[in-house]
Amino acid sequence: MQLLSLLALGAVSLVSCTPLDNAAKVKAGLSLIKTSETDPGTWVTDEDKIKKYVSKNIKFIDVTNVTDSETLFRMSNVPAASEMSISRVTYPTTLSHTAEANPLIAKLNTTGPKSWLKTLTDYFNRYYKSTYGTQAGTWLLNQVKSISASNPAITVTTFTHSFNQPSIIVKIPGTTSNLVIVGAHYDSTGGSSTARGPGADDNGSGVVTQMEALRILADAKFKPKNTIEFHFYAGEEGGLLGSQAVFANYKSAGKTILAFVCQDMTGYSPSGKVSVYNDYVDSSLTSYVRRIVSQYTGIASTTDTCGYGCSDHASAYNNGFPASYVCDEVIRTSSPYIHSPNDAYNTIMWDAILRHSKFTVGFLVEASYL
Ligand SMILES: [Zn+2]
Repeated sequence: MQLLSLLALGAVSLVSCTPLDNAAKVKAGLSLIKTSETDPGTWVTDEDKIKKYVSKNIKFIDVTNVTDSETLFRMSNVPAASEMSISRVTYPTTLSHTAEANPLIAKLNTTGPKSWLKTLTDYFNRYYKSTYGTQAGTWLLNQVKSISASNPAITVTTFTHSFNQPSIIVKIPGTTSNLVIVGAHYDSTGGSSTARGPGADDNGSGVVTQMEALRILADAKFKPKNTIEFHFYAGEEGGLLGSQAVFANYKSAGKTILAFVCQDMTGYSPSGKVSVYNDYVDSSLTSYVRRIVSQYTGIASTTDTCGYGCSDHASAYNNGFPASYVCDEVIRTSSPYIHSPNDAYNTIMWDAILRHSKFTVGFLVEASYL
């Protein structure tokens, strides 16, 4: 049925194998990855994913477990310009909740982020299939539970995967079930499955940025209209695995997402600016996010593109949700250390983390009223 509908759409040309061949490949530990819309797909080992792709900064999406025909269609076709805004929301052109957001933003600092990032980078790596990666997940789960404890309305759950490292979802319930989500992956790689991979900028920085924003909203017992979620994804470096599973689940459950912001790398910014990327995102949401960056960081955003499967915003995008991507720098001047043992704690610029924390709180307060 799935295959027939795909053929009918003429949507995909994934490598031609019978389902039996594919099952044998999966059983042998191989994964099917795509590096572009037109790439028919390549079967690779987990080790090759990291060594031949991630460590060489070749972006890819692991499509092994993708079964939704619309999602596969989006992964295999460049969208027309008219399809770049898919949101059902009209995002406001004026930001009208600064009086509520500014006092919360004034409480942000880098004390927690410094301590949390030290722990995250002290794990030998956070590779999604290593025991360290699982241990880091357990630590993060307990830490976000502890941060959330000041507001009993907040729930913290794990979203489990076929590998041991779970994704983690923190929910601040609103008066509507419509969702406003910020997401950051917490796995890391140093260039192979066994390499030291502190993953300070990529993406311990985004994780602690979200933890600091969560601390402020939890302590304030912030009561949103829309439901707010903080996502901490597993397995991004393995081909967006955690976020793909979460957004596929939300799609099949019929959830409504009003706005999603991915933050992958928030702690290395020679420019001192915030970069809002333009590809595989919703154009209307992206314009709204730029307004929020300007308002709450006091600095106009820069812009860039980062390609197919660049980070977890692609998972939201491919599942038909309005996505945006906010990063610490344009590609050319971004951290030269990522995906290596040198992505270390002492390369982090704490003013960048604080800037992204301000943006995150500003975004969540504003978008909670969408
Ligand atoms: Zn990353």
